[in-house]
Amino acid sequence: MNVVYNFSAGPAMMPKDVLLQATKELQNWKQSGSSIIEISHRSEEFIQVALEAEQDLRDLLNIPDHFKVLFCQGGARGQFSAVPMNLLSCDKKADYINSGYWSECAFIESKKYCIPKSILIKKKHYDRKTFLLPMKKWNFNKDSEYIHYCPNETIDGLSIYEEPCFNDKVIIADFSSCILSREINIENYDLIYAGAQKNIGPAGITIIIIRENLIKFCSKISPSILDYKNILQYNSMFNTPPTFSWYLSGLVFKWLKKNGGLKNIEKLNKKKADLLYKKIDDSDFYINNIDIKNRSNMNVVFYLKDPQLNSIFLEKASLIGLKYLKGHRIVGGMRASIYNAMPLAGVQALINFMSYFENRYG
Ligand SMILES: *Cc1c(COP(=O)(O)O)cnc(C)c1O
Repeated sequence: MNVVYNFSAGPAMMPKDVLLQATKELQNWKQSGSSIIEISHRSEEFIQVALEAEQDLRDLLNIPDHFKVLFCQGGARGQFSAVPMNLLSCDKKADYINSGYWSECAFIESKKYCIPKSILIKKKHYDRKTFLLPMKKWNFNKDSEYIHYCPNETIDGLSIYEEPCFNDKVIIADFSSCILSREINIENYDLIYAGAQKNIGPAGITIIIIRENLIKFCSKISPSILDYKNILQYNSMFNTPPTFSWYLSGLVFKWLKKNGGLKNIEKLNKKKADLLYKKIDDSDFYINNIDIKNRSNMNVVFYLKDPQLNSIFLEKASLIGLKYLKGHRIVGGMRASIYNAMPLAGVQALINFMSYFENRYG
């Protein structure tokens, strides 16, 4: 089989080394005679796996002790409900920064649980380039209980790299598609959540990093499995956790640590994205209409000048092992998701193909 580079947005490519290790130990985990996925989540062996995963995540992100790490289910969408149910009562207000598809979904869901206000920050310059208003221009409300935003809009290919600092405002961030892609200062946030299937690997687990003093109130209508206090009390094992995803996430954390942590991966991610955007900007054949400040390093959205060539572009790319480049249906065009697990060689292969395709069809 030829090398395949998988540009899927999620579930997405996993590090090859991690898949190799998982394959090797899948049937017989550490000579125990059992697979890690066929033993109890309450066994000593699994609890060890779970604790190590948390510690490795804490090391990678430098998570201070007064933040708790929870491993949940229900995906990021589950958190669209869990966040308001855990943080405020239904007569309270919250600000939802609208920067694209996912932040808008979070806003819509939150209406069931509170009085949210949507604050649109997605704008267009005179030259038609899309940009996001910088944080100092976010027009939030004095009486809102928190500000929710999404630092990486997976579908729109829009990113916010600024770190929030709004003094006494509670900051909630949906990091689903950029967690562990770069260094951040956890102290600038109050609650971070992320589904694992974008930049960590296996679908099924959702990571929550929350300032401990925020875990207190939870709406009576909240299902117990979404109640942070309850999850914490049971060490994220109130109900049976997705043990396979938890274990695989743990392997990915170890892989990241072994490869120089977030400092290194951030450099590599920037390099990959810069190369790809340069290829797009250097030609009239490919287009990306996003202000440089807000271009995502994780999801590179681009268009062919002639959309009639879209299907042949995708077909030819797939033939040489460049897979799943089709853009999300609501924005069209192409999307190359180049998360941590995408090697530089994959991006270079895509760039070479883009040059070939432009020469042949341009
Ligand atoms: C994929 C994604 C979601 C939805 O995640 P699920 O785990 O499928 O619920 C939410 N927010 C962002 C930013 C995403 O990329």
